[in-house]
Amino acid sequence: MKNSELSVYNGVEANVNSYLFTDDNSAILVDCLRNSEEARRLASFVKAEGKDLTHILITHGHADHYIGAGVLSVEFPDAAIVVTRREVKDDIINFSTFMEGIGWLDNEPAMKPQTTENPGGFDYEGNIEILDSTVLSLRNGATLELESAYDSAECEHLTTIYSEDLNAFFSGDFCYNRVHPWLAIDRKSMVNWKRQLDEFSKRFESLNPQVYPGHGQPSDISLFAEVKKYIEHFEGTIDGAATRAEAMERMKALYPQYAQADFLLLNSVNAAIEE
Ligand SMILES: [Zn+2]
Repeated sequence: MKNSELSVYNGVEANVNSYLFTDDNSAILVDCLRNSEEARRLASFVKAEGKDLTHILITHGHADHYIGAGVLSVEFPDAAIVVTRREVKDDIINFSTFMEGIGWLDNEPAMKPQTTENPGGFDYEGNIEILDSTVLSLRNGATLELESAYDSAECEHLTTIYSEDLNAFFSGDFCYNRVHPWLAIDRKSMVNWKRQLDEFSKRFESLNPQVYPGHGQPSDISLFAEVKKYIEHFEGTIDGAATRAEAMERMKALYPQYAQADFLLLNSVNAAIEE
């Protein structure tokens, strides 16, 4: 088995993570943060490793995992920005179009979708490649096993990564650790998400890998059950609360130490309760 090394970069906005895999001379980056300013710091972090960055993998089409791609495409012109499936690329384009419409990209004009009216935007179609393999390899042969045949959960299409030599599972946004998860999704996706977490618990029971979540600090396989319980608490809360304010209060009381109540939890509650 070929060995790789992992460096973790903890983003500030949304408590989102980027993961850098390296061997002696090559590197693969997973996800690229929520804003360009942090992406510039991430680029310095990657350059400090002194390896050739060959790939930037975006795990799914939520802004906190890809807005930094514009900066990184300039800083690392030889690195391919890749996704596992056409559907992930479509999610990215759709999400940026949605964000532009509600003003969430006003601070990131270069990441608005490029159109004839907006030639200074980002060419998502041209800049993002679709992998024709479920494996990404470092030059020494160490592999990242990619999986994306999942039902809609936190996002319509998610990617997970398993590294055999590190015995590490990168759950993407199937897991958040002490960060409120994004639950502005339909109830069926919540059911799918919980079922998938059960499957992970079973699948990884004997391997017992380190689990690296999309948001928050690394954990072990107990994180799957923890996230599942959170979703159950959220479902119970929105069913029982009369107002958004009441739901917010209950969730914050259940999870006082969790980060991102003011953005991730707030949007989840607002999506679930009509007012
Ligand atoms: Zn995320």
